[in-house]
Amino acid sequence: MSGKMMQQQLTIGSLIKHAARYHSATEVVSVETSGGLRRSSWGETEQRARQLASALGKLGVQQGERCATIAWNNTRHLEIYFGVAAGGMVCHTINPRLFPEQLIYIINHAEDQVLFLDKTFLPIAAKLGEHLKTVKHIVLMSGRDEEAAALVDGLLFFDELIETGDADYRWPELDENTPSSLCYTSGTTGNPKGVQFTHRSTVLHSIGGNQPDGLAISATDTVLPVVPMFHVSAWGVPYVAAAVGCKLVLPGPGMDGHSLVKLIDGEQATLALGVPTIWMGLLAALADTGSKAESLQRTVVGGSALPPSMIPTFRDKYGVELIHAWGMTETSPLGTLNQLLQVHQDLSAEEQAAIRLGQGRPPWGVELRIVDADGALLPEDGETQGQLQIRGHWIVDTYFGMEETALTEDGWFDTGDVATINAQGYMVIRDRSKDIIKSGGEWISTVELENTAIAHPGVANAAAIAARHEKWDERPVLVVVKAAGADPSEEELLAFYEGKVAKWQVPDKVIFVDALPLGATGKVLKNKLREAYGDVLLA
Ligand code: ADP
Repeated sequence: MSGKMMQQQLTIGSLIKHAARYHSATEVVSVETSGGLRRSSWGETEQRARQLASALGKLGVQQGERCATIAWNNTRHLEIYFGVAAGGMVCHTINPRLFPEQLIYIINHAEDQVLFLDKTFLPIAAKLGEHLKTVKHIVLMSGRDEEAAALVDGLLFFDELIETGDADYRWPELDENTPSSLCYTSGTTGNPKGVQFTHRSTVLHSIGGNQPDGLAISATDTVLPVVPMFHVSAWGVPYVAAAVGCKLVLPGPGMDGHSLVKLIDGEQATLALGVPTIWMGLLAALADTGSKAESLQRTVVGGSALPPSMIPTFRDKYGVELIHAWGMTETSPLGTLNQLLQVHQDLSAEEQAAIRLGQGRPPWGVELRIVDADGALLPEDGETQGQLQIRGHWIVDTYFGMEETALTEDGWFDTGDVATINAQGYMVIRDRSKDIIKSGGEWISTVELENTAIAHPGVANAAAIAARHEKWDERPVLVVVKAAGADPSEEELLAFYEGKVAKWQVPDKVIFVDALPLGATGKVLKNKLREAYGDVLLA
């Protein structure tokens, strides 16, 4: 046939090869689990990743088999990301904050052959030991460590392991639909479910998510992913970073505000990514240290609702643009990113800030829609709320190890979120469908009630939940953690809602607690709160 184009497979190997070929000397810096910085480069990362892939083959790990990690964001974790996936195996990242029963469940369910661990998590491995049915090798992500060797029988050491790999090992030619990595959802109810990404979905996610109106990471950036590599591939940043060849800074275990200020200033980070609680910690540490985070230009924030004050604080005090994003494990995760359109350029700063508070619009590669309880399409008018559904190149189809599809009959994935979408495609999350409060047939957004409460100076954190009610079925109850040194009363907090939300949306009751229960990804466990306080309004 004449008039043909070359056809190459979209693989993770192609990303790391590009980084090594064109950005070999560009730095990859990480905070070590043992403290101190390790300085590496894209060239060294690729070399060590190839040796790792070779060494795993010699250990007997077969193509397609899973190798698990329980680790911080660091250079060895990066080498595993590329070595395992580009070598044709599957990199299974595990969240260390899961309960032991959940860890045992997912390691056995994934049939992990190898378990890579940072020293912090060695006690977990020692405890799980006999329950793990398929794990043949446990590898400590460091050089030799006699203290650790005494804890776990047959423990291997990462730096020794890669020495056994061939230095001239060459990446295999893989089909782009080969699985590359695996991540389980945190499963607040029921067992966690595994989402298995492919080389193709990962590469397309990297390209689609990194457009100028998306993450917009360039070779001139120094990128600091604070979002963990154990949760949805640190939002895909390691792959994007390899594709563009930017400098990468990995924070290791130091995700508190003071450690981050030191790292941002020390390495001159230009872009950082993380969940809102991380940025609350950073803002407090900036205020405390007096640093202005001069190098920082942008932060990407997502994973849970954004406190409204965060955008102006970053912009006005530190000149940092905050980009709001939304997604979930099932969506790789980038589903929407919030960057403005040309028509928004002449709006006032306040009007622009109001748009930026939403979760943004889908990049090329994914589409959104909202539907009602019967699956009928709802209007995209910015007002009508419905079940948010998504489809695209990097969205789950079937969970790992399951036969039945995760999709609707017409091929969309239901996110479990309730949202509005406007005519320009901008989406706003109103709530998760299991959290939203259904009061006398009307819906009340817990997100909105929480944002209002958190704006009160006497409130450190707040969660709104549905409590059962004789007349209205459900009514809102606010669970509040007081700010240090403050002592707001229930009346004062309820009065604070006046004029901010409709009268019938004001909570019926405020309950003060010392702390909110958090899940493995730092999100408030509202099901636990409903168990504890769901009946407080009944006689
Ligand atoms: P899980 O918490 O179940 O592991 P994920 O970590 O995949 O799930 O989180 C996905 C959910 O987090 C989304 O469905 C949504 O409810 C919430 N979420 C993610 N980003 C945002 C955001 N920017 N604003 C509000 N909620 C968000």
